[in-house]
Formats: sequence, C-alpha cells, structure tokens
Amino acid sequence: MSSPALPNPWQRLSAALMPDYNRVSAGFWWTVVAAGLAVLVAAVAELVLRRSGPELAAVAGAMVLAMLAGLFPMRVPGSRNSFVAGEIFIFVLLLVQGVPSAVVAAAGEAFVGSLRTSRRWTSRLFSPAAAALAMAGSGSLLDAALTDAPAAGWAGTAGTVATMMLFAVLYFAATATLVAGIPRLKSREPFWQPAATISLFRWVGIAYVGSAVLATLLYVAWREDGSGVLWAMLPLVLLLLLALHLHFRVQEAAQRAAEASATAPPSVPGDEALREMQHLAFHDPLTGLPNRRRFIERLEDALAAAAATPPRPFAVMYLDFDSFKAINDRYGHGAGDELLVQLGQRIHERLRPQDLVARLGGDEFAVLVPDLGHEKDAIGLAERLLEALARPLQLRGGVQTVATASIGITFSSLGYTDADAVLRDADNALYKAKHAGRARYAVFDAGLHAAVSERLRLAGQLRDAVATGQLTVEYQPLVELATLRLTGFEALVRWAHPQRGTLHPAQFLALAEEAGLMPQLSDFVLHCACQQLRRWQQLEAQWAGLTMSVNVSATDLAQPGFVARVGRALLEAGVDPASLTLEIREDTLMGRDGLPAVLQGLSDLGVRLAVDDFGTGASPLVHLARLPVDSLKIDRSFVARLKHGPEDEAVVQAIVQVARTLRKAIVAEGIENEAQSELLQRLGCTVGQGFHLGKPLSAQAARAWLQSHPAGGALQ
Ligand code: C2E
Ligand code: MG
Ligand code: MG
Repeated sequence: MSSPALPNPWQRLSAALMPDYNRVSAGFWWTVVAAGLAVLVAAVAELVLRRSGPELAAVAGAMVLAMLAGLFPMRVPGSRNSFVAGEIFIFVLLLVQGVPSAVVAAAGEAFVGSLRTSRRWTSRLFSPAAAALAMAGSGSLLDAALTDAPAAGWAGTAGTVATMMLFAVLYFAATATLVAGIPRLKSREPFWQPAATISLFRWVGIAYVGSAVLATLLYVAWREDGSGVLWAMLPLVLLLLLALHLHFRVQEAAQRAAEASATAPPSVPGDEALREMQHLAFHDPLTGLPNRRRFIERLEDALAAAAATPPRPFAVMYLDFDSFKAINDRYGHGAGDELLVQLGQRIHERLRPQDLVARLGGDEFAVLVPDLGHEKDAIGLAERLLEALARPLQLRGGVQTVATASIGITFSSLGYTDADAVLRDADNALYKAKHAGRARYAVFDAGLHAAVSERLRLAGQLRDAVATGQLTVEYQPLVELATLRLTGFEALVRWAHPQRGTLHPAQFLALAEEAGLMPQLSDFVLHCACQQLRRWQQLEAQWAGLTMSVNVSATDLAQPGFVARVGRALLEAGVDPASLTLEIREDTLMGRDGLPAVLQGLSDLGVRLAVDDFGTGASPLVHLARLPVDSLKIDRSFVARLKHGPEDEAVVQAIVQVARTLRKAIVAEGIENEAQSELLQRLGCTVGQGFHLGKPLSAQAARAWLQSHPAGGALQ
C-alpha cells in the first residue's frame, strides 16, 4: 500500500486560512492576490520615483475622494447590485495621471468597499488585488489606444469618449469575472459565465459607462482650460452623486413599504389569470404562504440591507415538526395537510408585518426576521413560536393531536453573502436542536461553524485521499467453524489520514456518501480486493478456492453502471466471479425500485450475494425469498447477546432456521470468544468471522500468513 502523503506547508496554510476553499479556488485566490500585489507595488514605485510633489498631492486627493465615495454605495433598486461613484474619480485620474495612479486608487477604493461588505480578510485582500489587476490590464489597453489614436484617425472628443466607454465595459467585465471567479470555483461551476456577467451589467455596468463619459468630459475640459475647470466642476459632480444616492434610498424605502403592506403581488385589475399565475409562482398552494423562491428573494434583499450603511441586521429561522411523519402515517395525508395549514397560520399570526414565513417544502418552514433590533428579540420570537406550536390541535373528524417543532436560528452578524449559506447554517442549527432532544431552538454558533467546516474540510481531504492513495484495505479472515480452516477474507476499507491516523469506515463512509465519492471508493476497494484475491489464489494450490467478500452500499447499487463496474474489476484481475461475494446490508434491501433487477444482474454475472447485518433490518421474508441472495450474515449484536440465556439462543436458532428454509448459507460475524464459536456451531452456523478467529489484517500480513501455512490448516 502507498505511504500517506503529507500536505505541503502551502496546503496547510490555505486550509487554516480558508477552510471553505477547495484546491482550485485557493490556487486562484493566491494567484490573483500575488499578481495584484505585484502590480500595486510596481504602480506605487512608479509614482514615488517619477512624480513631482504637487502631482503626488493631486493623486492622493483624488484617491481620498474615490475611497470616500466607496463608503456611500448606491444600491440599485430591486436588485442586490450596488455601484460606487468613486469610479468617476478613478477614471479622471487614469486620464490625467496615467495607469499607475488609477491602479493605486482602484485598489484603495476596492479595499474600502470590502471593509463595508465583508468581514473576511480573504475578500478584503482579494477585492483590491482584483481591482488593481483589472485596472492595470484594461488601463494599459486604453493607454495604447489613446496614444495611437491620432494616427488611426481617432482624434477628437467623440473618439476619446467612445474609447473610454469601451474601456469601462472592459474594466467592468474584468473586475466582475475575477470577483465572481471565487464563488464559482468554490462550487465547481464553470469559471467563464458570460451570460451571468452580462445580466449583472445592466445597472452597474451602465453606471460604469456613465462614469467613464463624465470622466472624459472632465478630462477634456481640463485639457483645454487647465485644472481650474476640474475643481470648479467637482462640487457639481458631488452634488449630482448625492442627489442620486438620496433618490435611490427614497426609492428603496418606497419599495420596502410596498412590500410590507402587501405580501401578495401587485394586483392588475381585471387580469385574474395573470394575478393567479403570479401568486402560484411565489406561493405554496397548500398553505397559501410564500414559497422557497419568494423566501430566497426576500432573503437576498435582507442580505443587501445587512451589508448597507447603516447595516440592517436580520435573523433566519429554520423550523420543522418533530412528529409530522408519525401523524401523517397515523391519520393519513389529509390530516397531515390540515396540520401544516393550521401550524403555518399559527406562525404567521405571531409575526410582525415585515417578517416573512415561507413553507420550504414538506414540514419545513423558514422565518425571516428583518430589521432586527437585538438578537435576543429573535430568541424571544422563537420561544413564543415553540410555545404556540406545541398547543393541542383540533383536526377534522374530531382528531386531537399535538405537534411540537424544533427551530434552528442564524444571524446576519455572521457576515453572510449568499442566501444558500444562511439557510444551510439555520438548517445545521435545526439539526443541533433536534439532536439536543427536540421541541427546542438552537442557535448556529462558532462551535457549530467549526464542526461544519471541519466536516467540509474532511470531505475535501477525502476527495484527495482517494486520488493520493491514502485509502487502504484490510482483510479479515472468514473461517470454517468446525475445522478452523480459512475459507476467505472480507475486505474492509481504511483511511490512513496523514494527521489523524487510521480512520475506520464509521468515521468517513457517511461523508463519502454526502460528497458523492462512493463510486471512487467502491471501485478502489473492489479493485484492490480482486487483485489481492488473484495473487493469493495463485500462491499455493491450497488457496485456489479462497473467496473474497466486499461490502457495497445502497448508493453503489443505485449507480446505473454498477454491474458493469463489478464485471470489469473481476475481468481485470482475472478472478472467477463465483469467488467474489458482495455484502449488502439488510436495511438497504427494502423499498428501492430497481434493486431486484440490479441484484439479478450481479447474480447473472456469477457473483455471490450476502445479506450483511442480518436480523437488524426487518426485511419481510417474502421479499428476501425472491431475491437472488446466497447467504445471510447474522448481525454481531445477536452473537454478542448469546451468553445471556436461552431466549437469545432461540433467536439465533430461528435465524438459522430461516436461512435453511430459504436455502441460504449462514455466516456469523463478531465472534469474540471460544464459547460463542462453539455455541454458534452447535446452533448450525458453519462459517464465522470475528476477532477471536482473526482480526482484520493488512495485505502484507495476510500474505505472510498464507505463505507460512502452505498446506492450509487452522488459523490459530
Ligand atoms: P461489516 O461489513 O459488518 O464488517 C464487520 C465490522 O465488524 C468491521 O468493522 C470489523 O472490523 C468489525 N469486527 C469484526 N470482528 C469483530 C468482532 O469480533 N467484534 C467486534 N466488535 N467487531 C468486529 P469496520 O471495518 O469498522 O467496518 C464497519 C462497517 O463499515 C462494515 O460492517 C461495513 O458495513 C462498512 N464497510 C467497511 N468497508 C466498506 C467498504 O469498502 N465499502 C462499504 N460500502 N462499506 C464498508
Ligand atoms: Mg460486511
Ligand atoms: Mg456486518
């Protein structure tokens, strides 16, 4: 097996600073920040070395103006975009003083802007670096175009304006692409998304182009009449910007008021169908409450408001009912629906007009509490909701029942920038509340944050582990109980984690499922197990009949190409399909469409099938009898209880009886002592597995054992 590779210091630093970045986005971050810094240092050096005192003072003045403007963004009504008037000053600087000054000013403005919009140093460094890079690139192009202009017939104010407009579009596209790059790479989306950039362009881009035109006019006036004109026009421009800022704020306030007074979409008199359609698009048909789409929209507005000056903080609650499924099962779906309507109503009645409750799906609701005075106001609301929801409910047909809820809460003070992250954290907090015993609330906190990011980090590492050979397989002997002769091995996956030592399947299988890594993991184990089996079978004639058991999960069985993948592993190793047994846990046998067909496919391949952990999954015998299963593996909990008395023996005996009736072989796992081994044998088990008979071994250790017992023989 390969030795575990230690991450290099860069990888460790990235993991500590940016736990939520994957390798590609971290690489992108470092590249842009390093290149941006280099460009910035070169620009500062150029200014300090080449410019006179008064020139430097003018540059500094314009930079301060640009940064001040960065503090007063203008939000575009009805969207999350905002633009910053500082661009005008930066563009004037670019035209009057050249690229280096504009690079420094753009970086400065972006830095001030990022102080306002983000709490993370990763963004506070990235934004100025991206701005410096975008300005250096597009500014140099502009410089070249304007220098060559007279020769190309581009002279004149109109030509300069047009060139400058083109520049503004380029500069906008470069900045937008760099900044959007991080979230795109993080979520493994394509880096180039011209359509998204164009849709962002609408308001903000137009503002950039407008700023460019204004800046060019200022520049032309300056060129004709000297700097006096510039200073004379500045107050005018400032007044204009202030007016715009106020205008947008008024419009925003009007929009908010309209939203608060009518949760329903604006009505168009006489156009019933259109109104109905609008309503359907944003509302849940069962409860009449807003739906997920509407919720996300409002949440995005709240995110923008929380990032504005002054910030308007919010809270989000994720809520679900503890016993909804039981009520549904017991009284039927009609009763379940009625319950959801009543509970949704109860929540709605306890909210302020500006709050929003939405049904996200199933029995899950979300509450948005905008304009939050204090975090404890939201806690108070959660307590009132819990109390209101826990009151008895009267359903049709005289049914009386209670349905308690659990609530997870998160606050905008955690510095969110996207709606999905808010909902995910609130959902994580809900999980914590359920875990703590239901009918309570839990707040998403730093500890939970750490636990979640630790999980994300582990998932990232697992992805690399598959690629870098940190996964290994151990082999546990299966033994004929009467003779103690070895019949085969079960392959058990291990993760040789570089920091945490050997991890067992319980510590990472669920993670592999969530991260979609099961196919790689299973292919790896299948491949290793088949190759080893082949080598061992060839060691001695004695071992030609050895078998290998490999565990497969429900996810594996649901993969369309699974049967073919098993076939390929067998073919590549040159192993007889009949010597491979796939172990399927009993609880994955139930209620899955298509499962019998997959099992039949495997059986047709000639592979043996075993039901693992048998006795714990309660699969109906009729179902079991129809599946092409060859053996049952009694769960080790039954073996562990054997010493307790005759009832436990009777249970094992019954299982053995079932296996006989269904004509399946029977295997016992978890045999930890001689007494269990003897008893199981007496009860009719022929093959066993357990620490008493042999612990899981590395491939080398297993091979060494096989070689030291060339004539076969008992394990001990
Ligand atoms: P399992 O298939 O029931 O495997 C037996 C588990 O019981 C192994 O744990 C083994 O180390 C342990 N065991 C064996 N003898 C004894 C004993 O005498 N006493 C006790 N207390 N335990 C014993 P392990 O390796 O941690 O695996 C746990 C489970 O993870 C396996 O249960 C199996 O369901 C799953 N698993 C293991 N490897 C893979 C794999 O490659 N793919 C998939 N999908 N699942 C796997
Ligand atoms: Mg197993
Ligand atoms: Mg088992």
